[in-house]
Amino acid sequence: MDNPEILVERFGAVTRISHNRPQASNAENTSLLEALDVAIREAEADDEVRAVILAGKGRHFSAGHDLKDDRFKSFDVQTRWDYEEKYYYEYCLRIMDMRKPTIAQVQGACIAGGFMVANMCDLVVCGESAFFQDPVTFSLGTAAIEVLIHPYVMGVRKAKEFLFTGERMTAEQAREIGMVNRVVPDAELERTTLELAQRIAQAPPFAMRVVKRWLNRVWDAQSMRVVMQAHFDAHQAVHEGKFFQQVVKGELAGTIAQAKGVGVAG
Ligand code: ZN
Repeated sequence: MDNPEILVERFGAVTRISHNRPQASNAENTSLLEALDVAIREAEADDEVRAVILAGKGRHFSAGHDLKDDRFKSFDVQTRWDYEEKYYYEYCLRIMDMRKPTIAQVQGACIAGGFMVANMCDLVVCGESAFFQDPVTFSLGTAAIEVLIHPYVMGVRKAKEFLFTGERMTAEQAREIGMVNRVVPDAELERTTLELAQRIAQAPPFAMRVVKRWLNRVWDAQSMRVVMQAHFDAHQAVHEGKFFQQVVKGELAGTIAQAKGVGVAG
């Protein structure tokens, strides 16, 4: 891996892939997302890898997509559609569709684009500092993030509250509603997640692959992909709305930082 923005570590049959831009709260820029996708493909292709941990170095899992790239300001409809479809939608679904079991290891902020990536994983383990948020309806006026995974991991009722308020959900609240599997003190997060991954990695890979495939089919039977694709398409239209265009032109300065409280990304 040439790009230090993603760190890949190996622990026997377990690979840990970490966001590694702690100085930027692990905001996901284009090069980081490309490196993440390469790491996911390599873990998928390596027969020795039986479980994958997706993590973030430093205080936060990820504060979301890095929107500082000036190119975003000049995107027309088609350019934005193509960019978001590749980097946000398809890259995310590749994580969900991996043949191998995946665990998100989450501490600190897990916001917007970070929330989306973490929730592509099969299991989620949190440190007590972890919190989840999708504030972009408020901060950018963009009708949630690009992959509408929310109702499938938290239920429609909670997804409405989460998106209608844009407020933070703590790790413990997320565990109570079933979105998160385990919450442990931050000091025990790495060890707990690695032990869980190593336990899972003991299963025969082919059987594990089929179990995962069928559990994901439960969502498919609920037409999840149809709903998420329809949402993605509508999300692109909302990017053309008045509020988002004002944000892009800098006419609503501060809305992103205000909505999230941690700055940087969206
Ligand atoms: Zn978007």
